[in-house]
Amino acid sequence: MSEQDVRQSRRDQQLVSIDPATGEAVGSVPLTPLDAIPRLVFEARNAQRGWGALSHAQRADILRPAAARLKAEAKRLGALASREMGKPLPEAIGEANYCADGLASELDEIVSALADIVREDGRLTSILRHAPLGVCAAITPWNFPILMPHQSVLPALLAGNSVLLKPSEETSLVACEYARILNEFLPAGVLTPVFGDGAQGRALVLADVNLIVFTGSRETGKKILADAGPGLKRVILELGGKDPLVVLDDADLDQAAAFAVRNSFRNAGQVCVSTERIYVDAHIHDEFLRRMIERTAGLKQGDPAEPGVGVGPMVNARQKAKVLAQIDGAVRAGARVAAGGEPRAGNFVAPTILVDVDHSMEIMREETFGPVACVQSFRTVDEAVRLANDTPFGLGAAVFGSDAARAAEVAARIEAGMVGVNGGCGGANGSPWVGMKESGYGFHSGPEGHRQFAQVRVISRPRAVTSDA
Ligand code: NAD
Repeated sequence: MSEQDVRQSRRDQQLVSIDPATGEAVGSVPLTPLDAIPRLVFEARNAQRGWGALSHAQRADILRPAAARLKAEAKRLGALASREMGKPLPEAIGEANYCADGLASELDEIVSALADIVREDGRLTSILRHAPLGVCAAITPWNFPILMPHQSVLPALLAGNSVLLKPSEETSLVACEYARILNEFLPAGVLTPVFGDGAQGRALVLADVNLIVFTGSRETGKKILADAGPGLKRVILELGGKDPLVVLDDADLDQAAAFAVRNSFRNAGQVCVSTERIYVDAHIHDEFLRRMIERTAGLKQGDPAEPGVGVGPMVNARQKAKVLAQIDGAVRAGARVAAGGEPRAGNFVAPTILVDVDHSMEIMREETFGPVACVQSFRTVDEAVRLANDTPFGLGAAVFGSDAARAAEVAARIEAGMVGVNGGCGGANGSPWVGMKESGYGFHSGPEGHRQFAQVRVISRPRAVTSDA
């Protein structure tokens, strides 16, 4: 579909999804007119009254049957997500299944996190209640087009808020289907999709909402924070990253190289916790690089629906141009392409490894969000830690080393919300998904995350005095 066709469909008030692998139109949804947004927020506020009056457990019970429906539709949802944003089909279906399979325990975890907490001293008994905030705007990106809406919408709804979900303009179709499934169970008006781009997102932030749950880029996060400021609206911002991987001299090289390739090129590098910078002890640098190059050569790139394809396209031409501009800038400044780098047609970027990089290059400082791994050597652990921390981002990180205690000590020195030792950065069940520095402002998941979607209230009364006191 040409740019002109897309502009025409916008004039027809339709938002068209384009398959980034083929350029074909996948389908369209009606664009939400900007002037309709205040009315939608007003209707969501009306719907919230009844919804907010239910208990957390009642709200969870209403949503429980959605698990079976999501499971039954997982293949269809996955296929739609894969076509809209280019994720390999098995991974997209896996994302849908993950949401379906985890729904019941997620609901239980949220209900338990939002239960009353009793605090007592000699004088008072206080009950900490987790009350609804009101109307929530959930604004999500395209890279996990089912999981991101799921993780934003569920805790917001269970806390008793009504939700307006504004998915990415790249993945409206799958978000529309996700909302449709939840709406088979929810009372009318409690979950309302809003379709459009940054204009619709901004209109929602500026409307009469009480909570803004945003996952997306650091730049957009800053705009949202500025727009939410005058109204002192509650915000949860999960933003971008520039994750480092530190490979210590005693690391299992096969394990570290396998992780580096998987975590740099998964979803064509379009993952917030992608490994984008790799710091390797100088003693093992050449052998680690050799193993990484060998594994990268084995990756199959192509149409995400084709069997065996592990790396799909960039989500759109803009993202491809951004990634290529960072690679070109680095090469002009002295970086060397150790793998990939060759031009690819359409929206594809070959999985690329860059060496001879340094922190004067934009590619070592700004998020790339593409299939590019930059490898730099270090001589001392202090130097590795300094380089890993030389970034405004602080989302995820990983440290590989056979002496797990030593690797864990290095991990603790890295300024990131989540650090994995000999593995990825995601924590055990019940852990929050959390960024430090400019990667996060508020966070979600785990009991600590779920409580951020609610208003804590404290109801206190004098402690009963016993007669024999
Ligand atoms: P983006 O910031 O361009 O857009 C995200 C959403 O915000 C979209 O729905 C978009 O329409 C909307 N939006 C744009 N401008 C807006 C404005 N001014 N006001 C309100 N809404 C606005 O991000 P993207 O390209 O969709 O996603 C990629 C980014 O998301 C990367 O930076 C990635 O690291 C980040 N991300 C972070 C996490 C995390 O958990 N920290 C998870 C996934 C993605």
